[in-house]
Amino acid sequence: MIYLDNAATSWPKPEPVAKAMVHYLNEIGGNPGRAGHSLANEAGHVVDDTRELVSDFFGAIDPLRTVFTKNVTEAINLALYGLLRPGDHVVTSSMEHNAIMRPLRDLEHQGVELSVVPCSSAGLINPDDVRKACKSNTHLVAINHVSNVTGTIQPIFEIGQWVREMDCLFLVDAAQSAGVISVDMESCCIDLLGFTGHKALYGPMGTGGLLIGQRVSEEAFRPLLRGGTGSRSQHEEMPAFLPDLLECGTPNVVGLAGLHAGISWIEEVGMGAIRHKEMSLVTQTLTGLQNIEGVTLNGPQDASLQTGNVSFTVQDLNVAELGLRLDEEYDILCRVGLHCSPATHKTLGTFPEGTVRLGFGYFNASEEVDKVVDAIERISHSKQGN
Ligand code: PMP
Repeated sequence: MIYLDNAATSWPKPEPVAKAMVHYLNEIGGNPGRAGHSLANEAGHVVDDTRELVSDFFGAIDPLRTVFTKNVTEAINLALYGLLRPGDHVVTSSMEHNAIMRPLRDLEHQGVELSVVPCSSAGLINPDDVRKACKSNTHLVAINHVSNVTGTIQPIFEIGQWVREMDCLFLVDAAQSAGVISVDMESCCIDLLGFTGHKALYGPMGTGGLLIGQRVSEEAFRPLLRGGTGSRSQHEEMPAFLPDLLECGTPNVVGLAGLHAGISWIEEVGMGAIRHKEMSLVTQTLTGLQNIEGVTLNGPQDASLQTGNVSFTVQDLNVAELGLRLDEEYDILCRVGLHCSPATHKTLGTFPEGTVRLGFGYFNASEEVDKVVDAIERISHSKQGN
């Protein structure tokens, strides 16, 4: 089997990830912050250590401003519903995942004003267009760092400098970039950073979080959920401090143990080595696909400008049929269609059918690329021979 759906979720995971989770389940198992006994304390250390690791990984100053969620979708919802009020203006891009677009469209119905900055046909945002879209009531600029469809890397450093100059808040969806390219909150002037643990951070599903910068006051935040935190239990109101204000109910400690192991593994291998491997696989894939008649590639078509996602269509071949044939005839697993990003496909001109996405990860090999290119060529020729 050739697994090429790492953009949806990375697989396989590095060995230490399952080991850390099994260790927590078999040897620790307590509920953090809910009791004073040794197992609850040990579970608390797992949560605290992971919070510190995540915070350092993204260049954040205060680990207590890292709030764990079940994925980036929840993190983005927390930021958008927690901070935006009717009359606020938000700027986003035409390359967003529905994790940003759907909450923003809903908030639009509640009186939030929205501007969607168009991107180039390669999916790239021009930072100057973001600047031009900002107005006196702009409260937030919300952008994904890397497209989940084309892998296009957005210039978040440049956008961040403008956003800071205009005194707005900057939210970055790092779902596809975290673990492959550096995302530094301080240097990129990011105020709110959403991440998901199960993609290029190589952790398990059910982990993610929102990192909240120093410019966002906790008083401005309305929590999505309210409940037990293990702190200030004498009060019937939520604690006013982070992370407790935005983190209630028993956390996913087994998942956080796995996330800790995933990020530690990345640090051991080196993000540079991971990026280098993915770039070489992408270059090989682009070169192979470019030589097949009828293939149209989407996105930057340059490994230095994109991450491990390669998106394409084949003339006269339905993407669903192509995906099914790759799976059934060649045991190649990828994702076809709209990838939860209709806005992106409208930008690329591939709406409503979508594209085929090959999502590479560190554990893919060059020989697999040869097999995939060969399979696509065979399917394409068999169709054109009909
Ligand atoms: N944003 C982007 C850019 C993504 O690629 C994804 C996952 N496809 C998400 C948000 C949502 O991630 P999750 O389902 O883990 O919340």
